[in-house]
Amino acid sequence: MNAPVSAATLGCDAAPAIRGEVLRERGQREVFCGLTGIIWLHRKVQDAFFLVVGSRTCAHLLQSAAGVMVFAEPRFGTAIIEERDLAGMADCNEELDRVVDRLLARRPDIKLLFLVGSCPSEVIKLDLSRAAARLSVKHAGATKVLNYSGSGIETTFTEGEDACLAALVPVLRDAAPGAAPELMIVGALPDVVEDQFLRLFAQLGITTVRCLPARRAADMPPVGTNTRFLLAQPFLGETARCLEDRGAVRLDAMFPFGAEGTTSWLHAAAVAFGIDEMHFRSVIAPGRERAKRAIEHCRERLGGKSIFFMPDSQLEVPLARFLTQELGMVPIEVGTPYLHRRNLAQDLALLPAATVISEGQDVDRQLDRVRAAKPDLTVCGLGLANPLEAEGLTTKWAIELVFSPVHGFDQAGDLAELFARPLRRRDVLKV
Ligand code: SF4
Repeated sequence: MNAPVSAATLGCDAAPAIRGEVLRERGQREVFCGLTGIIWLHRKVQDAFFLVVGSRTCAHLLQSAAGVMVFAEPRFGTAIIEERDLAGMADCNEELDRVVDRLLARRPDIKLLFLVGSCPSEVIKLDLSRAAARLSVKHAGATKVLNYSGSGIETTFTEGEDACLAALVPVLRDAAPGAAPELMIVGALPDVVEDQFLRLFAQLGITTVRCLPARRAADMPPVGTNTRFLLAQPFLGETARCLEDRGAVRLDAMFPFGAEGTTSWLHAAAVAFGIDEMHFRSVIAPGRERAKRAIEHCRERLGGKSIFFMPDSQLEVPLARFLTQELGMVPIEVGTPYLHRRNLAQDLALLPAATVISEGQDVDRQLDRVRAAKPDLTVCGLGLANPLEAEGLTTKWAIELVFSPVHGFDQAGDLAELFARPLRRRDVLKV
């Protein structure tokens, strides 16, 4: 097995973003708002409920993004702000308290309630942090009430998860004084992927590994100076800062996509916990080889093909690193809504020097650049994909990359396939 590849071995540490040459765009954004995160977060924490304080538009967004799913006991809902609320003719706080009281009386299984702010609640300046504090006292012992904003004014798409987890950090209990170092995986991963990682960490000999978020409210991890954490998602900048404020130490690594990214991510934990290098290599070898074999069949289709990422999910940089380093694709531009340089340093360092890194969005200018570059594949939001397809470009919906299990060795083949499929479809249609 090869050692985890570093920036130096590829000689690409002069990538534009590392040199500070990031193209900054400050135009109109064309991405989902942070409410979208509820779609995957509500599946993760089984006794949590997400109450969006918003409009019918917010309710429609959630329903349509969630697909046609009918739950007997749903884990999210919308408290609709009506016109009279917007006109200041009703006391929104009283109404919100009534809605929450009714919900918790009917659903005593809810142990963690998130009040999620939206554009309308922001516009009428409804103070959800005070509401959460008030309701937490009222329902103390039964349900913890927290709040965060998922509004389109304040958040883009995956920032909703960051805001949600950052809201959780202050209420995590303190680690016991002098407690042994513990590993924390930060980011909502599908259970099956989380279990794969937990098995690998156990085989490595890292005894205590906890996840934020946990699957149940009572199992949220403690935090303290003994906490070493690995970000599973690149968009968790605020959560990382909040954890560091509580003394936790972030472990630097690439994000766990593909064979190399996953190796780097696991290796950072192994180093932090003093795991013997030979033992590390022998534990990860089977998974790493499986991942390499699984992506091999996509190499032929993807190798040498150019790719353009429109800013959308904040997964763009590590995915571009995976496609470049492991599949031989050629990234033309990698756009991301926000560039968390520190979190992304290792992935950024492996992008070819000629890659344009852009932060923020100016959709018209970016579309002009897509049309001029004519990439083989453009990764973009749903709204841009159809018009680009109509112009003869091949696209991949960014949202699929967020909703699909793509982390870790055993998902590497599926991840590569997500990029290969549109190119295969294009070739079939051409014939
Ligand atoms: S929060 Fe704002 S952007 Fe998101 S669905 Fe509601 S109104 Fe639309």
